[in-house]
Amino acid sequence: MAKDEYAIGLDLGGTKILAGLVDHAGRIIAQKQLPTLAEEGEKAVVERVLSATYDVLSTGSIDPEKVRGVGIASAGVINSAIGEVVFASNLGWRNVPIGALIAQRFGLPVRLFNDANAAAIAEWLWGAGAGTQNMIYVTVSTGVGAGVISDGRLVCGRDGSAGEFGHISIDWNGPPCRCGNRGCLENYASGTAIENAARHKLATTYESVTAKAICEAALAGEAFSKQLIKQAGFYLGVGAANLLYLFNPEVIVFGGGVMNASTILMPEIEKSMRERCIPGLAQEVRVVLSQIGVEAGVMGAAGGVFALDQPGEKVPNF
Ligand SMILES: [Zn+2]
Repeated sequence: MAKDEYAIGLDLGGTKILAGLVDHAGRIIAQKQLPTLAEEGEKAVVERVLSATYDVLSTGSIDPEKVRGVGIASAGVINSAIGEVVFASNLGWRNVPIGALIAQRFGLPVRLFNDANAAAIAEWLWGAGAGTQNMIYVTVSTGVGAGVISDGRLVCGRDGSAGEFGHISIDWNGPPCRCGNRGCLENYASGTAIENAARHKLATTYESVTAKAICEAALAGEAFSKQLIKQAGFYLGVGAANLLYLFNPEVIVFGGGVMNASTILMPEIEKSMRERCIPGLAQEVRVVLSQIGVEAGVMGAAGGVFALDQPGEKVPNF
């Protein structure tokens, strides 16, 4: 990438749409935030995405000719090859060709990523995975997801859906998952799973029993909450061992809201992961916390546009 070039990153979330003009060093030069308001319908949300994009593009301080393209980070099921959000419940979207809509409006190339893959790019270019060629980013939040950088490239898969770490099975005979599989990691180690385990044990449906509250109680030393977090860490390590065998990474980066309890989680993750791997694989891998916060979606989506410069990279044409 040329040093004086820029890319626009769009983070499409259930509560807010965040657009940012990002430079080659990952700095956000200008940004615009709008509420998603998914209940107003698909058309209204698309209009807000276009409006936020326009605002950062016309910020005035840079030459628009130097904007290489637009990267989009979206939750849900995407098809990056055709630039379509196939299904995103938090946006209220089904088969929305957001890539084509943006490309047509602004005349710029567009790349679409799922949110975990975008965050992985951000950590790889400018965060905890900088300087590596083989890095895996794992997000532990409401769900569990991952983005895989292998041999210096993001592993996208056919549709851009590779890295669905939350749906690898750690118990073939475990409880059914909404995806169709059984015993998915996400059902043992996500924020939702931690909440469910707490509510089940306490025989309550209290809404105050949230993953955030459990993390805080665990950090304050409360024994039951600590046990729940440790258990989630154990399962994450079981899952991470599979990542080690598949990808032989240099570093695994853990991020997401549940990692607020990292002082309790990390030792458990490392322990169960390392004791399940052959020593050669397990000894060299570093397990670290993410360095980029809420800007990861915007930065990573923009970073994915800069990565278009890589030789052999296919530029989608909508
Ligand atoms: Zn599943």
